[in-house]
Amino acid sequence: MASEGPRPLVAGNWKMNGSVAMLKEPRLLAAMLKDVKLKADVMVCPPAVILRRVKSVLKGTRIKVGGQDCHWNPLGAHTGDISAEMLKEAGCSAVIVGHSERRTNHGETDEIVASKAKAAQRAGLVAIICIGETLEERKAGKTLDVVARQLKASLPEGSTAANTVIAYEPVWAIGTGLTPTTAEVAEVHGLIRKELGQLMGGEGGQTRILYGGSVKASNAAELMGQPHVNGALVGGASLKAADFLGIIKVYT
Ligand code: PEP
Repeated sequence: MASEGPRPLVAGNWKMNGSVAMLKEPRLLAAMLKDVKLKADVMVCPPAVILRRVKSVLKGTRIKVGGQDCHWNPLGAHTGDISAEMLKEAGCSAVIVGHSERRTNHGETDEIVASKAKAAQRAGLVAIICIGETLEERKAGKTLDVVARQLKASLPEGSTAANTVIAYEPVWAIGTGLTPTTAEVAEVHGLIRKELGQLMGGEGGQTRILYGGSVKASNAAELMGQPHVNGALVGGASLKAADFLGIIKVYT
């Protein structure tokens, strides 16, 4: 695997899956990775209610823990929400914001996503900002326009390579088993890199750009091998340690 550019990150998004019984998976993953030399960072993002349990299972390992969403305020009357500061206190080092499931199911706009990313950075977390086109937009030839617009509007001022990760996730590839061609992935990641340069100056070249959408062990090497792909955001295949390991091993 090419080692140029920022250190890659492989992050697992458990979504609304996870239970105390599932704690055996991160425990297993940590054991399997114990003596493996890795050229990437690894992270799991479990549901909030088991964050501390997962963190405790992973204590002393290299595997980081992240949240799946946060509110833009640090505290207050926001029933059901969790702040970035709370995630930080629970041991998180990052939080996903703007996942397409939140954009679709909760009506999150780019403006909301930017305020959540800003909150994450304020709390000392890395904001993993998700962007990506729908199938309709891809078919209409609007992919590059949509991705550039989302990136610009979702990236808060003050973003740096240290506090920001971009995840390109074509909505139609999430949980479907479908993936863009490697040329399509390279095209979008190239565009994101160029736009990041304009938005962030020199920091843009060092900011990690993850690909997400039906990544599995069998396609990971090909997808991760594309230029400006600095790791993966993984949904379904992150739930079982053995499946997730198959993806992470691309970076050994
Ligand atoms: C995701 O939801 O971020 C994702 C990439 O899911 P999956 O890997 O299951 O397509």
